[in-house]
Amino acid sequence: MVSLGRVAALVVLVFSLGTQSVAAEPARPNVIIVFADDLGYGDLGCYGHPTIATPNLDRLANEGQRWTDFYSAAPVCTPSRAALLTGRLPVRSGMCSDRRGVLFQDSARGLPSDEITLAETLRGAGYATACVGKWHLGHLPQYLPTAQGFDRYFGLPYSNDMDRSPTAPRNASVNPKPEYFNVPLMRDAEVVERPADQTTLTKRYTEEAIGFIKANRDRPFFLYMAHTMPHVPLHRSEKFVGRSRRGIFGDVVEEIDDAVGRIVQTLGELGLDRRTLVVFTSDNGPWLSFNEHGGSAGLLRGGKGSTWDGGMREPAIFWWPGTIPPGTVHEMGSTMDLFVTCSRLGGATVPDDRPLDGVDISPALLGTGPSPRQTMFFYRGTKLFAVRHGQYKAHFSTQPGYGGEPAAKHDPPLLFDLGRDPGEKRDVAKDHPDAIAQIRKIVEEHESGLVRAETQLEERLTPQ
Ligand code: MG
Repeated sequence: MVSLGRVAALVVLVFSLGTQSVAAEPARPNVIIVFADDLGYGDLGCYGHPTIATPNLDRLANEGQRWTDFYSAAPVCTPSRAALLTGRLPVRSGMCSDRRGVLFQDSARGLPSDEITLAETLRGAGYATACVGKWHLGHLPQYLPTAQGFDRYFGLPYSNDMDRSPTAPRNASVNPKPEYFNVPLMRDAEVVERPADQTTLTKRYTEEAIGFIKANRDRPFFLYMAHTMPHVPLHRSEKFVGRSRRGIFGDVVEEIDDAVGRIVQTLGELGLDRRTLVVFTSDNGPWLSFNEHGGSAGLLRGGKGSTWDGGMREPAIFWWPGTIPPGTVHEMGSTMDLFVTCSRLGGATVPDDRPLDGVDISPALLGTGPSPRQTMFFYRGTKLFAVRHGQYKAHFSTQPGYGGEPAAKHDPPLLFDLGRDPGEKRDVAKDHPDAIAQIRKIVEEHESGLVRAETQLEERLTPQ
């Protein structure tokens, strides 16, 4: 609800605009998407974590919107990132596979250049664009951020646990030293450090982001800040060592929270805070097989790799002071919706020559109407495992995220009422044949129009 105080603030804002015309549409915002890696639904203070302190994100959630039913488009890195940037399910772009779930350092391909990214739409509308952090959509020059709509890039082109040194110990991921993983740090298309010193990555990403914001203070900008952390191996800078009661995982999340705080502080200092939409979310759920080094999905079932809600339901915070009315939003949204929503808010052209899976959730963000998203498809690799429609989620197949256990097929599907049972504990298929029939119809419609692209994730570079 919009409070009287907020209305008064808007009136003051309108008068202070002077000669500028007063439109119903908000002015085009700067867009900052902060994307954590493998952060779970339960890993922030404002989502109930008792021993990880996230005062900056809690503040954004309090001043902005905290969404409870927001989903990434896939339960692992590469497909999730492809879907965020293109607004399309990974089966449409070929950025998924049942044999190799993500790209690796020996992968020969990446996000096809005919896919249109959010950086490309916004750049077309006059935005300066930068990608800071983990890319994971192809490390060869033709697939890098600088070939996909970003003016600038600084970060790791793939996951921080790849290109493992042959001398690294078996438990290298939980006994981390930067030299165990020969990952390159890149600036634009050049490698500037290898192996990257992962202990200072979050800090350096933040400095890079702040530099980009300052350099573009006088024009609209889009910053895609995809943190490498808290994906294992966990690293944090000196200042954060031993800070959290949650151990190293907590230290790492607290450093990311501090990074968000520094960016928001910069926006305030530059007078950009009321002209900038900040979004915070994560690419997939917690990597539970790493125990304490993985995060928590809170009350949700499962984690990274699985199509249980814990694998794909994420914290999602939207902050745009003066425009986004504060509150908790229980409607459904997805990272794919950011493509359409941010393109529209930025005055950019949303492509109409291809199917999009994202929808414009700006009515829910601006408090003018509901989110149009009623359905969420849960793919594991190229296969549709589950569908949520309204409060009901039907699982046609289930499989633990990791461990090699084969998929179990369910006919009739398992059905959970996510309103009464967000932890997906009690199968109510027997009681709601109508809900199953409706979801089956949605699946049939979805599959009848679906054109699957050839996978990009399986071809490897010839060994040197
Ligand atoms: Mg991830």
